[in-house]
Amino acid sequence: MLGQMMQRPLLISHLIQHAAKYHGDTPIISRETDGSTTLSDWKTIHSNSKRLANALAKLGMEQGDRLATIAWNNRRHLEIWYGVSGAGMVCHTINPRLFPQQIIYVVNDAEDQVLFFEKTFLPLVMGVKDHLKTVKHFVCMTAPDEEVRAQLPNVIFYDDIVDEESDEFEWPELDENAPASLCYTSGTTGNPKGVLYTNRSTVLHSFGISLPDSINLSAQDVVLPVVPMFHANAWGLPYAAAMIGASLVLPGPNLDGHSLANMIDDYKVNVAVGVPTIWQTLLAAAKETGTKLPSLKRNVVGGSACPSSMIKTFRDEFGCETLHAWGMTETSPLGTANQLKAKHSDLSEEDKLTVRLSQGRPPFGVEIRIVDSEQNNKLLPNDGKTSGNVQIRGYWIVDTYFNNEQSALESDGWFDTGDIATINEDGYLRIRDRAKDLIKSGGEWISSVELEDIAMSHPAVAMAAVIGAAHPKWDERPIIITQLAVGEQVSEEALIAHYEGKVAKWQLPNAVIFVEAVPLNGTGKMLKKDLREQYGNHLIERGLID
Ligand code: ADP
Repeated sequence: MLGQMMQRPLLISHLIQHAAKYHGDTPIISRETDGSTTLSDWKTIHSNSKRLANALAKLGMEQGDRLATIAWNNRRHLEIWYGVSGAGMVCHTINPRLFPQQIIYVVNDAEDQVLFFEKTFLPLVMGVKDHLKTVKHFVCMTAPDEEVRAQLPNVIFYDDIVDEESDEFEWPELDENAPASLCYTSGTTGNPKGVLYTNRSTVLHSFGISLPDSINLSAQDVVLPVVPMFHANAWGLPYAAAMIGASLVLPGPNLDGHSLANMIDDYKVNVAVGVPTIWQTLLAAAKETGTKLPSLKRNVVGGSACPSSMIKTFRDEFGCETLHAWGMTETSPLGTANQLKAKHSDLSEEDKLTVRLSQGRPPFGVEIRIVDSEQNNKLLPNDGKTSGNVQIRGYWIVDTYFNNEQSALESDGWFDTGDIATINEDGYLRIRDRAKDLIKSGGEWISSVELEDIAMSHPAVAMAAVIGAAHPKWDERPIIITQLAVGEQVSEEALIAHYEGKVAKWQLPNAVIFVEAVPLNGTGKMLKKDLREQYGNHLIERGLID
């Protein structure tokens, strides 16, 4: 043997051990479901997760078993993550906003043995519990509560089982490829599909998102993950925060703009992470109260395209740098993040903004390419102009969905994301659309994302979805479904006129529909499929078919 380096598996238990050992007193602030706030730290999270691991062993849980949560971002949920995955089981986070039928489907598909739930979700649990075939224990994430017990007599209370146990527990030295957590995609088409993350993929993803050109995390940061722990594992932040020793502020159920602004100000949050709709509510609240969110230095936006007006507002009015990132449940989720390169430093502010608007470039650990899927995945050039199907491969990308025999990959090992984008010479990805949201007009494609961005740059517009409406001559034409900002007005003609000079004439939207609220899905994305069903015939119905 020439020599050898140590073989240490990449394990989630190592993350929490590291956080407890080197950042034990770093605060974890948690807004609880009952409205109270608790102050904890990494050492306590570690002790409680070991207590929970002891309790789970007594409940008969074994390595590889799946345990589900229906919960907000809070302290107990964090302890469950580390207790479950650290002990070799799989933490399956469920989106409470799924339809009951979908919840039943995912629990049965995952064969969950335990269901941890917040007291607020008791009615939801009562409605589905008789259909959950494999759940042996229902654990309410509170201290003992007679109201809950009256309805669900065999319920176990989290605080009871954790308080009873010792925090003496040896984390098992698992194989790093042992599964650790499970997230289902939202199932906009067909049943939701499960993505089973491993210890290894999770630890490597934590390195990836912490890098300076990703979210740039350090032990000096106070991080507010607004993105829920059931949405692609809160984009991996609770793991990365332990790796780095960052402080976490967990917002619980209070995701309205005022609560978020107060949390940012009260706990001096400097990094906040979430989808664009969250930032819209935060900006509206900050405008109302006049806070300048002085501690906030970076906010990360992903999940849907970040409107350019939002980056400008954060920059100019709040001195906050907006990082645009892209990814999906299948990619853990970080695929790309947008930070400038040294060569961009001399650009004007406006040109920098143009670069920043794209979804950014991949960190080490993932690669992206664009191909023409209709021509046998022919590789397309990275010229910033040619659009194609985005495909990805890397250390934290799905291979095979949960309970599937067949790999989800293309024959040469890449995963097709269903997104359409360009990539420029510097490797920056610009998402043009989801393949299914592109608007097909007279044989040409129109990007709904670009038209939405322009609508949202109008001061009267709070939110805008652009969909293709059926048209007898052109196949489809773009129409805007918009929600106005409070107290603002704009006419249909004026909003369409706002596009002039910004897009080619044939891309101008044909109509505007004003709605009270653009419908959003459980993760804050616009429900364009529903809008297409509702308004797909709008042009024909109004006779706008020239
Ligand atoms: P769902 O399918 O439920 O929306 P995901 O949260 O996994 O589940 O969504 C992934 C998709 O979200 C991506 O494929 C892409 O279409 C979209 N997306 C994510 N981030 C961005 C972004 N920054 N800009 C535009 N689209 C994005």
